[in-house]
Order: sequence, then structure tokens, then C-alpha cells
Amino acid sequence: GGTTADLSVFERHESEVRFYSRKFPVVFTHGRGSWLHTEDGRAYLDFFCGASALNYGHNLPLLKERLLDYLASDGLIHGLDLHTSAKREFLRRFHEVVLAPRGLDHRVQFCGPTGTDAVEAALKLARKATGRQTVVAFTGAFHGMSRGSLSVTGSRSARRAGGVGLQDVVFVPYEQGPGGDFDSIVYLERLLSDPAGGTELPAAVIVEAVQVDGGVYPASAGWLRRLRDLTERWGVLLIVDDIQAGIGRTGDFFSFSHAGVVPDLITLSKSLSGYGLPLSLLLIAPGIDVWKPGEHTGTFRGNQLAFVTAAAALDLWTESGFTDRLADRGRQLQGAVRAWAEPRTDVTVRGRGLLVGIDTGDAARAGRVQQRCFADGLVLELCGRDDHVIKLMPPVNISAEDLEHGVRIVTSALDAE
Ligand code: PLP
Repeated sequence: GGTTADLSVFERHESEVRFYSRKFPVVFTHGRGSWLHTEDGRAYLDFFCGASALNYGHNLPLLKERLLDYLASDGLIHGLDLHTSAKREFLRRFHEVVLAPRGLDHRVQFCGPTGTDAVEAALKLARKATGRQTVVAFTGAFHGMSRGSLSVTGSRSARRAGGVGLQDVVFVPYEQGPGGDFDSIVYLERLLSDPAGGTELPAAVIVEAVQVDGGVYPASAGWLRRLRDLTERWGVLLIVDDIQAGIGRTGDFFSFSHAGVVPDLITLSKSLSGYGLPLSLLLIAPGIDVWKPGEHTGTFRGNQLAFVTAAAALDLWTESGFTDRLADRGRQLQGAVRAWAEPRTDVTVRGRGLLVGIDTGDAARAGRVQQRCFADGLVLELCGRDDHVIKLMPPVNISAEDLEHGVRIVTSALDAE
């Protein structure tokens, strides 16, 4: 619909690389729960959630109160890697709520501020721990925009924009992505067991348990287990990048838990703080924590405000009924979209938990649907190779009513095509 927003400051002063903003020509001012608000008084249901950086929605009161209390006490804002009370509380709660109940004994390395920093640390540490260089990555993968993470990202255009080649990286097809009829585990096994001994062993395999930016492709539990078995057998480290699919998005804290695999290295960021504050970390299995003190540093590693809200967000996970509600909402979303799509032959639905991709096979159509949703009060994003997949990513604690409302907007927009 028509908008009166004054965008001239952005158009005149902000770099051409701005992207998401171009699709939503309004000026956002505040957010509450599952809703975004603009300066001209409009409200939009948020099925974008900062690409999973806002899994608990906007300004969740529990987190906001803890943050305001901390600020009121003149809590330390910047701590580099000093011991701080906020960091201690986060580490203690993270171990109690996330690691110990899942039988994980990983160490936590703060990599802040953002996701790609955790991926860089994972790749560097894997290379140091094994003394090897090559990393295996999957077609369709997205791991970030700095040099190392871009080198394992499956987009040729993104790699070219960053001037990054394929040095030290081998790509193989992802289980269920395009080309997924190719058994990449069998291929990897041949690569590793090359009888001529002519192939270097890789340091690591880096994988998303659900490729999100790649078009919402959840890997099966069986495939993840085969990948874990193979890498374990050959002493190749398994890195799971859970930056977008983790932290409740697929129903559990980690997107790979349902497969019962234990990765050597796990990257987390986005919704870790629960409040949209930057925080990223690398989880390191026992025996791989090989960096000597100071071998990996960074000024904004570990954001004190993010520690405060992250520790508070972990309290949600111990509230009675929280994980049951996640499961209920996940079933509601999957059920509603799949029931709508059932009789249709022009779309494919994929996803798990509170993550759905509606594959239209047609980028222009997906773009029109996105604009119609926006006109009807729903913000969502697209994904897949050329943005032909409509990505539904509501807050994981959304109400049943708001979830139904959002699904109705997007399915009506698709029906109107
Ligand atoms: N890894 C995955 C799976 C992601 O989805 C993203 C961001 O979308 C990243 C890494 C990079 O995170 P950041 O954009 O915070 O650097």
C-alpha cells in the first residue's frame, strides 16, 4: 500500500549495499512482542525476526527488566575478556540449562560481536587442532560474509563480491538441496579413503542441520548421523553452524539434537542474547580447545549487556510449559501451511518447528507475494538461490492467534497470484 515515509536521508546518505530496507519502504521505530511499529503509526506482524536474531520477539518484558536493572546499577558495559559477574552468570546458566542436560561438555569461547566471527574462529581452530587445511562445505550453505566464512558459503556471486576463491575448500551437495539425489556421504567416504592415498584429509566438515538461507532444507537425522560417523572415523572435525537454525527455531535449543549427534564445534549467535544484542560464541568439544592464551582475541568479544539478557533468556527454557508451547506452535505452523499446500502442485513446503519455506520455484512470484504480505501488514523475507522461497520465521513464543493471522496473510497472498 502507499506510504508517506520520508526515505530521502537513507537514499542520499546510506550505501547502495542496503538490501532488506528497500523492500519495506517505511521507517520502523519500535517493536513489541511479535509486532513491528513504524513512525507513521502502522503495525506489522514480524515473520522475519531479524533473520532469527529475535526468536523471542521484541522487547520481551523479562529481558527488558533485567537489562534496565543492570543499567541502573551502572553494570560494566565493556569488559573485553576480563572476568565479569555478567559473564559468570551467563556461563553458569548456559552450562546448567543448555549443555549439561544434553550431555555436552563443550567449552565456551566468546567470538563477538557477530555470527561470522564464530565461524572464522571455528575454521581457524579446526585447522590448528588438526594441522590440516582443507574444509568440506555444502552447496547452498551460508556461513557469513568475512573471508573465511565466505569461502565456505555456497553462493558464487557472494564469493565474487568478496573476492574470495575456492582455495582450501571442497564443496559437495547438501542432502536435500538441489542435486540432493547425489549421496554426498558416499562421495566423502571415497574421498577420505582414497586407496592411492593421494587426497589430503580435510581438517573439518562445516554443515547447517537446516540450510536456512539456502532455501530452508532440513537435513534428515539419518544423514546427520552418517556424516557424524564418517567424520569421527577419519578424525575429521564436524562443525555445526547453528547460527540461524538454533536457539528454539526448530523446537529445541539446537537444531541437530533430534539426530543425537555431538558436533566437535558449534557456532551460535543471532538469538543467543534473546534481545537482538550482538553476541556470538564457539562451543569447543574436550580435546580441541588448543589455542594458547591470547592466540585469538577481539575487542568486542562478549557483550556485557548481551550476557545479561542471554542469561535471562535461558530462564525461559526452564519455565514449565515453555518447550511444550514451542512444540505446539511448531505443529500449528507446519500443519497450517502444509494443509493449505496439500492440494497445490505449484509450491513445495519444507521446514521444521517454527521455520517454514514455501518454495514457489519463481523469484518474481515470491517477490510479488512478499510485497502483498507487506501491504497486508506482514513482514517476511525470501531465501534460496535466487530468492524464490518464502521464509516464515515467526517469533518462537508468538501467540496462536497471531500465528494464524500471519499464515492467513501469506496463504491469501499466494492464493491471489
Ligand atoms: N551462519 C549462518 C547459518 C547464518 O545464517 C548467518 C547469518 O545469516 C551467519 C552464519 C553469519 O552471521 P552474521 O551475519 O551475524 O555475521
